[in-house]
Amino acid sequence: MMTDATSSYRIQGATGEWEVVIGLEVHAQITSNAKLFSGAATAFGAEPNTQVSLVDAAMPGMLPVPNRECIRQAVRTGMAIDAQVNRWSRFDRKNYFYADLPQGYQISQLYHPLVGEGHVDVAPDEKQPDAIKRIGVERIHVEQDAGKLMHDQHPTRSYVDLNRSGVALMEIVSRPDMRSPAEAGAYLTKLRSILRYVGSCDGNMDQGSIRADVNVSVRKPGAELGTRTETKNVNSIRFVMQAIEHEAKRQVEVLEAGRRIEQETRLFNPDTGTTRTMRSKEDAHDYRYFPDPDLLPLELDEAFLAECRESLPELPDVKRQRYEDAGVTLYNAGVLTAEVETARWFDALLGAGAPAGPASNWVTGELFAALNRLGVGIAESPVTPARAAELLALVADGTLSGSLAKQVFEVMLETGEEPAAIVEARGLKQTSDTAAIEAVIAEVLAKNPGQLEQYRGGKDALFGFFVGQTMKAMAGKANPGVVNELLRRALG
Ligand code: ADP
Ligand code: MG
Repeated sequence: MMTDATSSYRIQGATGEWEVVIGLEVHAQITSNAKLFSGAATAFGAEPNTQVSLVDAAMPGMLPVPNRECIRQAVRTGMAIDAQVNRWSRFDRKNYFYADLPQGYQISQLYHPLVGEGHVDVAPDEKQPDAIKRIGVERIHVEQDAGKLMHDQHPTRSYVDLNRSGVALMEIVSRPDMRSPAEAGAYLTKLRSILRYVGSCDGNMDQGSIRADVNVSVRKPGAELGTRTETKNVNSIRFVMQAIEHEAKRQVEVLEAGRRIEQETRLFNPDTGTTRTMRSKEDAHDYRYFPDPDLLPLELDEAFLAECRESLPELPDVKRQRYEDAGVTLYNAGVLTAEVETARWFDALLGAGAPAGPASNWVTGELFAALNRLGVGIAESPVTPARAAELLALVADGTLSGSLAKQVFEVMLETGEEPAAIVEARGLKQTSDTAAIEAVIAEVLAKNPGQLEQYRGGKDALFGFFVGQTMKAMAGKANPGVVNELLRRALG
């Protein structure tokens, strides 16, 4: 069941409430061994200027050759957000001069992008995971990244590292559909998740694999769109949300003071959480876009498109629904599908025969707590999905109670042994032996005459006390269901 999420985020000003309007232009580095138009490597963290071909350095006479894998990844990404993929697209030159851009232009796609209209569904409110809002995506185009200037290496000089020059980016342009920092955060989180499922971008924001240009305007609810500012190159989801919050408040103050918002480019300062002017519309670049004469239009054939489509994995929304249908709660299904590694692990657990509902509780509870404690990701879990399925099977068939399963799991984490072997070797089997349990109950009642009297006098809450004493006396190995039943009988 899905309902429409309606945002109630408003900024209270002196003249009443203001609504915030947000559109994001996300630059995502395409996962590929080679650059968009050259064979140079793209590995992160290499020595400066060791991954620069003659094309990336813009030596005269060098010709760009499109990298099929980069195009393929962008197409697959478009398909993953249900977008229109254009079978005919073209590259344009965006001309500007800057020291990190040896060509003097960036090859991009303005007029005929590779991917058109699509959308991403997000649940902005964690407490209402079924309240979905659809964020429109206007286009995805493919373009080259620039190099990197380093101003902190020498007292009087700047250095340039061209390793990033020519690396393939997807620019994913949203519609101005978001209405709060939370919606923008949810959109980026979901987009990042989808990119990682698809494998088209590693999503490592701390390495700059995803950067967002944040467009913000404010208006009175229901009014026309206001003038926007664009805060460039924000590199974390938290910073994007902070930039929106700050920028929206600033705009409300400007407007309420009777001034106008200038359409301008701004910079975010992560140390203060504020934005400041970088350049105004008056100094806006005229990029003199024109079709790149060195490159033929891109024409995609049916076989290529079919391969792109067939190679897509099951995506988070479909997977979440499948988990729900198998008996996982909506909340757990959301948690299990948010990160592709978690989903892969859980799929392997289901594949090994674990029952979906109990398995989902176990993963989000016991396993996550253990991984947290060990400080490792799920992909490095010391317990494999196959072993975990064996453990859950021992719970399902009554061999282990919940608390015994916890003990066995601890041993599995330490030794990597099979759960059945651990149960056998340490005698951790749960018992439903009624005669044995009845004997212990009789002892417990005999040892606690005071509590027995109070219970019989109407203090029902003491029932739990007797359960606890019985379990303790049996070292946690008694079947709790059987203990309850026999205690009820014994207590009359
Ligand atoms: P440009 O190409 O000049 O950067 P676009 O119209 O392509 O402008 O929009 C760029 C981004 O700005 C898009 O993500 C879009 O959703 C967003 N945007 C456009 N108008 C507004 C507005 N009034 N308020 C907030 N965001 C906006
Ligand atoms: Mg723009």
